[in-house]
Amino acid sequence: MRFGSLASARASARLLLFQGDRLALNGGELFWPAEAAGKWLARGAAPVPLGADCFAAEIGKDAKLETRSLRSLLFGADEGGGESGADLALVSRASQLLHWRRTHRCCGLCGSPTRPGESGQVLECVACGQAFFPRINPCVIMLVTRGDEVLLARGARYRSGYYSCLAGFIEIGETPEQTIIREVREEVGVEIGNIRYVESQPWPFPSQLMLGFLADHRAGEIVPDPAEIEDARWFPINDLPKTPAASVTIAGKLIDGYVRSRSSAPL
Ligand SMILES: [Zn+2]
Repeated sequence: MRFGSLASARASARLLLFQGDRLALNGGELFWPAEAAGKWLARGAAPVPLGADCFAAEIGKDAKLETRSLRSLLFGADEGGGESGADLALVSRASQLLHWRRTHRCCGLCGSPTRPGESGQVLECVACGQAFFPRINPCVIMLVTRGDEVLLARGARYRSGYYSCLAGFIEIGETPEQTIIREVREEVGVEIGNIRYVESQPWPFPSQLMLGFLADHRAGEIVPDPAEIEDARWFPINDLPKTPAASVTIAGKLIDGYVRSRSSAPL
């Protein structure tokens, strides 16, 4: 089935509509019924299939609709925004697929336009047929620990006011463990070991897969790289600064999980 137009979708289909990186709300709701969504769709913008009877689509810049940023929506969940985790995961996936569509309008080989392939999850060049699949950028995020202390840092570029785990992009040819050792060394100048995978999280800003780890401090004092890190310190687990919420971020989950494991550990 080609998903080139909503005509091929059933009347029960529901859509997530985006205006750039903001979600357009339907009277406060996330989803739009197909018949209501049609008039807002940007010309020539084929909806992206998200699963059974669910699509994401881009709307024109001139559509005057209530919109909400992805960031406020995802972080708002922590403040009881009311949306379910499954719905927010769908919004996150939709945002990433539309970002991929937006940034792959032309073929990287011959420069001709691309168009959605049969499945809707591939773009194909109209001239040379080259296929382009959605791209994910793998990252590591790691909580470095030293007994009852954790190493938390505040980024130099994105000043959120929070202290959080260190993180970085996996470079070509690296394993996640190699990235962790390199990033920790580069950002704060300490050596680590005993790296353990904990869990992962897709992160739609714009399209990362965050792989979360714990690691033990082995040697060295903290020397922050000023280009990356505004401040980094060891914090005792019973006196932590403001950190990202565990309900929304893998950073928060890593910190909370470690604090809980130490609190329940035998003395
Ligand atoms: Zn081409």
